[in-house]
Amino acid sequence: MLQKIRDTLNPYNAELIAVSKTKPDEAILDLYNQDQRHFGENRVQELVGKYDRLPKDIRWHLIGHLQKNKVKYIASFVHLIHSVDSYALLETINKEATKHNRTINVLLQLKIGEEESKYGLSRQGTDQLLEKVAANKLSNIDIHGVMGMASFTPDKVQVRSEFDELKSIYDEINKKYFSENNSLSEISMGMSGDYEIALEAGSTMVRIGSLLFGSR
Ligand SMILES: *Cc1c(COP(=O)(O)O)cnc(C)c1O
Repeated sequence: MLQKIRDTLNPYNAELIAVSKTKPDEAILDLYNQDQRHFGENRVQELVGKYDRLPKDIRWHLIGHLQKNKVKYIASFVHLIHSVDSYALLETINKEATKHNRTINVLLQLKIGEEESKYGLSRQGTDQLLEKVAANKLSNIDIHGVMGMASFTPDKVQVRSEFDELKSIYDEINKKYFSENNSLSEISMGMSGDYEIALEAGSTMVRIGSLLFGSR
């Protein structure tokens, strides 16, 4: 399955984030031994444990909702936080990154799907956040792009239109808030059930769990 996914991603030049949440270390090492280096987790505690035990050249992505008081546990090593959904969280990440004398890469999570429970910024909330970012230099964070989840539905037309919406917001904010020499580059969208649609819509990073590791 890993090879099939790689073959699908290859023409798009997209990155595979193997979502290893709830899966044991051995399952991660199995993919690691096939040269997979990017892994995603959605819980801080589980991420920290795996970071401690597993090879240090793994690039860890935090893809789930992040509480401000937990940023400190991952600030020294996290490769990319996909789930920034408030300015306050961004400030905390900046503060913790400063303590470790590093820059932390982040994505803004936008709400595109229909399901009520989903976290993420609204279109308007995204503008408000980016205006604050422009006014306050947060020197230890680097906003690389956006992340979103489509509705959980078999309706491929709807899923495609939600991914198209995220891509068009990405294009808009990139033009409005980011200069040519620090422009956005990442759109994290697509999971096991919809990653092929996401790639067609412009995804640069897919987050795939169950297709690689089996159901949870
Ligand atoms: C669990 C999870 C995934 C992976 O889901 P699969 O359907 O198993 O591929 C992707 N993104 C986020 C944010 C997740 O929580």
